[in-house]
Amino acid sequence: MTMTAFGARGESLAPHTSLRIGGPADFFLRVATEKDLLDAIQVARENELSVFVLGGGTNLLVADRGIRGVVLQNGWRESSVDGDIVTASSGTELAHVAAVAARSGVEGLEWMATVPGTVGGAVHGNAGAFGGETADVLVDAELVDMNGDTWTARVDELGYSYRTSSLQRTPIVCVRARFRGRTGDRANAVKRIKEMANERIKKQPLAQPNTGSIFRNPPGDHAGRLIEAAGLKGKAIGGAMVSPKHANFIVNANGATADDVRALMALVQGEVAKKFNVKLVPEVELVGDW
Ligand SMILES: Cc1cc2nc3c(=O)[nH]c(=O)nc-3n(C[C@H](O)[C@H](O)[C@H](O)COP(=O)(O)OP(=O)(O)OC[C@H]3O[C@@H](n4cnc5c(N)ncnc54)[C@H](O)[C@@H]3O)c2cc1C
Repeated sequence: MTMTAFGARGESLAPHTSLRIGGPADFFLRVATEKDLLDAIQVARENELSVFVLGGGTNLLVADRGIRGVVLQNGWRESSVDGDIVTASSGTELAHVAAVAARSGVEGLEWMATVPGTVGGAVHGNAGAFGGETADVLVDAELVDMNGDTWTARVDELGYSYRTSSLQRTPIVCVRARFRGRTGDRANAVKRIKEMANERIKKQPLAQPNTGSIFRNPPGDHAGRLIEAAGLKGKAIGGAMVSPKHANFIVNANGATADDVRALMALVQGEVAKKFNVKLVPEVELVGDW
């Protein structure tokens, strides 16, 4: 692989994020195999370019000025089931892991069906829903650093807590992961997935571009409850708006910029701190050149 394999310069990242916001990548490459992924990391290193791995782009606020260096969009999808263990490449959609497990009669991974994004994004951010989270079901993850060194880390070596891991703020990339469910009943698992999906549709503003929960829930409370109680549902800056349907969602209602969203987040944090003395911590990752 050579630098030319990194494709055209200046690809807009907006279409690659669920918020539909984000400026250009210096270099953008979609990888579809393990070899592509590892080769691209090597070529970036040889050219002294930083690497940002983009999964589904569902937990990101990408700066209007974009991301410097190479953005690798991880489209490498492979999965297999062995007993109660599902092994998946990092670009596999988390929902696909849930579906593969359910089809094989493996229970306990149904919540994954409701979380957008990839295995790599979930391992990186300890994604979770409906009382389950990645750290509960991950056995281990194969990782690679920017020198191309690979190793396998057990779940207890990844520093997991609520929406947090030791991989965050590091350039370490998840290559693949193994999840453990429990041998169960296919029909039960499929039914549970449908129930969870229906519950989601009722509560979340899925028709407008968004990035899931904007803030983490503070201990013992819900960010959405506090934002609603502060009277901020429907509050807008530029094209960004606090969803009238779910207060912990900021939606791109009308051509929002990253700066609009960031300003609205700051306003929400300021109001909630003033009214309830609670510091809201972003769940969405602000990335790129601000
Ligand atoms: C409608 C909606 C609902 C949501 N609901 C939930 C929910 O219930 N629970 C929840 O936890 N989250 C939820 N989210 C947020 C999001 O789905 C999760 O954070 C998800 O795990 C992000 O995965 P991704 O592949 O999209 O990561 P991206 O958004 O692409 O990236 C997020 C971070 O992960 C890193 N990353 C991606 N791939 C890799 C890799 N292979 N190796 C290392 N790092 C990597 C990126 O570099 C970046 O730092 C929701 C989002 C939306 C839009």
